[in-house]
Amino acid sequence: LRKSKVTVVGSGNWGSVASRLIASNTLRLDSFHDEVRMWVYEEKLPSGEKLTDVINRENENVKYLPGFKLGKNVIADPDLEHAVADSDMLVFVTPHQFVEGICKRLVGKVGKDVEAISLIKGMEVKKEGPCMISSLISEQLGINCCVLMGANIASEIAEGKFSEATVGYRQNRVIAEKWVQLFTTPYFSVSPVQDVEGVELCGTLKNVVAIAAGFVDGLEMGNNTKAAIMRIGLREMKAFSKLLFPSVKDTTFFESCGVADLITTCLGGRNRKVAEAFAKSGGKRSFDELEAEMLQGQKLQGVSTARELYEVLSHREWLELFPLFTTVHEISTGRLPPGAIVEYSEHKPNFS
Ligand code: NAD
Ligand code: 13P
Repeated sequence: LRKSKVTVVGSGNWGSVASRLIASNTLRLDSFHDEVRMWVYEEKLPSGEKLTDVINRENENVKYLPGFKLGKNVIADPDLEHAVADSDMLVFVTPHQFVEGICKRLVGKVGKDVEAISLIKGMEVKKEGPCMISSLISEQLGINCCVLMGANIASEIAEGKFSEATVGYRQNRVIAEKWVQLFTTPYFSVSPVQDVEGVELCGTLKNVVAIAAGFVDGLEMGNNTKAAIMRIGLREMKAFSKLLFPSVKDTTFFESCGVADLITTCLGGRNRKVAEAFAKSGGKRSFDELEAEMLQGQKLQGVSTARELYEVLSHREWLELFPLFTTVHEISTGRLPPGAIVEYSEHKPNFS
């Protein structure tokens, strides 16, 4: 029986941790080829060396996950086409703004039987409307694409602290189980849910709520206010998801990808941290500037997702239904001051 070959497309903070998790399992499980290829967006380090060369020499992503060995069976590859050639299972894990460009380069280079999974939290907005990243991958490459989302701050998983995650799948339970097998470890507990859109929208939308939570922290508004923002945010996440895809299940919001990811991101995520600094500056420093200064090459997803969401909401005339989502965008673009997060979010929309 042919062993499945796995390629991870992406090598940031979560991409590196995901490669490490997967590589520990491919060594252990007979149904997978030991070697895991990891596509690296090549860059020069301050030493003048290429990141890929350093990863392969040190077995460590010294820029995006310093201090953790990836596993000797992880091979960094800067050539995207080469990295996916011969692969049976593709794990997409880059910041969402780069996926479309990556997929364009892969059109015609991936076999029809290849299975994909997206760990990417975000969406694209097209003229026709919003497009989830798993659909973009699926449509551009003509392959099936599941998703994996959850309360997964990458640095904590790298340290082996117990976490849960949710695999969202469309129809094929056997494939979902294979992904569950590839990711599960004693400290990483993965459950399948037949609701790809619900799982992916949870992961995408919670980043916008995390920006709101960061504003509240920056303004030192306290725990009750932050809890209120999280509650209002969860309500908007559910309402938006169901308006967009009526098939989305209520139970999905109680999985790791739902309420648990919302909580961890609002407590300890990068979106929260940078939004806190933005509010502390009174909105005077831009998110781009703060991201570059505070995250050393890592990328925020919440600010661009708030903009994309705003486009969808205004196009569909839903702005008034989603005061929290709308206000996050208006604050991050400087149209409203950070304190507006509570003035506007408390307006009660009429969800059925
Ligand atoms: P990251 O933010 O740590 O790193 C940014 C990555 O983007 C780097 O690998 C960099 O090389 C790459 N990059 C920069 N410019 C590029 C370009 N032009 N084209 C392609 N790649 C480019 O990345 P991450 O944390 O692995 O995030 C990837 C996805 O995973 C995001 O959607 C994020 O929301 C999600 N996620 C992250 C975490 C986490 O804790 N880090 C947890 C769960 C999900
Ligand atoms: P941040 O990108 O805000 O760090 O969130 C990470 C995450 O998605 C945790 O599940």
